[in-house]
Amino acid sequence: MRISDTAYPIEKDWRKWVIFDGALDRVVAVFLQRLAAYSRDILKRPIHFIAGFRTYDMQLKLWNNYKYNGGPYANYPGNSWHEFSCACDVHGPSSNWGEIMRDYILPPGKQTMNKYGIYITCWAGAQVREWWHLMPMEIMSYTGTKSTFLTDDVVNGEDEMKLNDNGPDVLSWQNALVKVGKWALVDGVPTPKPNSNPIRTSDPPRKPTPTHSRSPSVCRRTES
Ligand SMILES: [Zn+2]
Repeated sequence: MRISDTAYPIEKDWRKWVIFDGALDRVVAVFLQRLAAYSRDILKRPIHFIAGFRTYDMQLKLWNNYKYNGGPYANYPGNSWHEFSCACDVHGPSSNWGEIMRDYILPPGKQTMNKYGIYITCWAGAQVREWWHLMPMEIMSYTGTKSTFLTDDVVNGEDEMKLNDNGPDVLSWQNALVKVGKWALVDGVPTPKPNSNPIRTSDPPRKPTPTHSRSPSVCRRTES
C-alpha cells in the first residue's frame, strides 16, 4: 500500500466533509479520508472539489484548451495525477479559500495540510502554480512512473461492477458466487452461459393471495 492509512489523521465518514461538484470521486480512499479530516478539523466545513479522477479523454480536452485556447495549465494526457486517482482540485467559489490560501504561500513540508497528509504541488521556481491542486504527501518524494505509483491501494468506486466490465472484476465476482453455490462457470465473462447455473434475478413466484370468501359457511359466527 503506497498511501498510509495510519500516518495521518483520517475521517472514515468522508462523504460528510468532501463533496465533488460534478466531478468523478474515483480517488484513493485514504486520501479522501485525509481531506475529510482536514476539512473537519481545520476548515470546519465541507471542502468542495471541481475535479477528482479524470479519464485520458478528459485530460486531453483540458490540455488542448491549455495549449491552443489559453486555458488554465493542464498536464499532457497520460501524465496527470488526476488520471491515477491521486489529485483533487478545490472548487474555489464553494469552498473556504482562506485556510487553503494560507498554505498556498508556504513551501511544501510547512503547510498546515501537510499534517493531514495533503500537500499543494506544482512549484515552478519559488511560485506555487496551482493552489487548488491537492495530492497525498507520499507523492512529494516519489520520482517513479505515475501509472505504477499505487499498488494495492483501495480506490473509491473502483470495485464497482459496470456494464461491459470484463476480466478480474468479473472473475472475483464469479468466484464469490461459486462459493455460495450460485454459479458454475468462472470465465470472466459477465453473461450467463447455457451450461452455467445462472442466479435467479426475479423474485420467486408469490403464493396466491387468499381471497376472502363471504360465503356464510366461512363467515358465520357461532352464537355463544
Ligand atoms: Zn489538478
